[in-house]
Amino acid sequence: MELYNPLTIKLLKNKYGFQFAKSFGQNFLIDPDVIDGIAEGAALDQDDFVLEIGPGIGVLTSEICRRAGKAASIEIDPHMVEVLHDTLAEFSNVHVIQQDVLKADLSRIIAEERGSCSRVKVLGNLPYYITTPIIMKLLTEHVPAECIVIMMQKEVADRIRANPGSRTYGALSVTVQYYCEVSEVMEVPRQCFMPQPKVDSAVLRLDVRSKPAVDVKDEAVFFRCVKAGFSQRRKTLLNSLMTMGESKDRVRSALEAAEIDPRRRAETLSLEEFGRLSDMFVE
Ligand code: SAM
Repeated sequence: MELYNPLTIKLLKNKYGFQFAKSFGQNFLIDPDVIDGIAEGAALDQDDFVLEIGPGIGVLTSEICRRAGKAASIEIDPHMVEVLHDTLAEFSNVHVIQQDVLKADLSRIIAEERGSCSRVKVLGNLPYYITTPIIMKLLTEHVPAECIVIMMQKEVADRIRANPGSRTYGALSVTVQYYCEVSEVMEVPRQCFMPQPKVDSAVLRLDVRSKPAVDVKDEAVFFRCVKAGFSQRRKTLLNSLMTMGESKDRVRSALEAAEIDPRRRAETLSLEEFGRLSDMFVE
């Protein structure tokens, strides 16, 4: 079955009587080159276990099943799960799990499903309404994956990849880059989906670091500092960092000790500078 073919999608729609659910961010891939590109970007082989997020009708899932050793695909929509039993019938190495990915115990699923696969990778054409929460869950819960290859809105991908000094650099860039090395696999125009979304997309590969990009004394303080800094991007660090609940004097002396000009803004700070600064707030 050519699942990327719009005619196949229409046939499945009629057969199973489902509608594209906007509330679940259902935009299905109809370009085989993009499907190949995601699989290639993840360099899948038989030693890989893939956790897929949001399989839809299974277009990427079937490619994963062909290339990887084993897979588990988490899909929230029961209509899609019914379709998947049909479209994935030829594969015995995939388990479809009907669940909300945000509520799932992903580490447990991986432990139960990976079998003898030596590597774990996370793949998915993400539902855009929850892209950031999914990424944050994968990283902060330390899901044991070595790489994450995911499609998202181009605008979110740009924020994740942004460097200090750029308009799109923010808390999301710092957080993802703290945990992962980020690279772009490809850009994907909106015409590659059915129904066509209003925005273009991009596929990123996140290689999870064996240890974070910077050594910090206390991770919670590091992230409080990042959050406070970007909570008021237009303000100087001296002012924005006070939203951490610290006095102006304390913030000023921390900035001085870290050798960071108090007139600078968070969007100019490198990860290393955020690390140095946050260490000054740790007793
Ligand atoms: N992988 C398919 C493709 O590329 O054609 C579908 C991708 S579509 C952008 C996102 C998929 O995620 C949909 O099938 C949708 O039902 C599913 N989804 C949405 N919210 C979800 C959630 N909270 N947990 C799991 N799956 C979800």
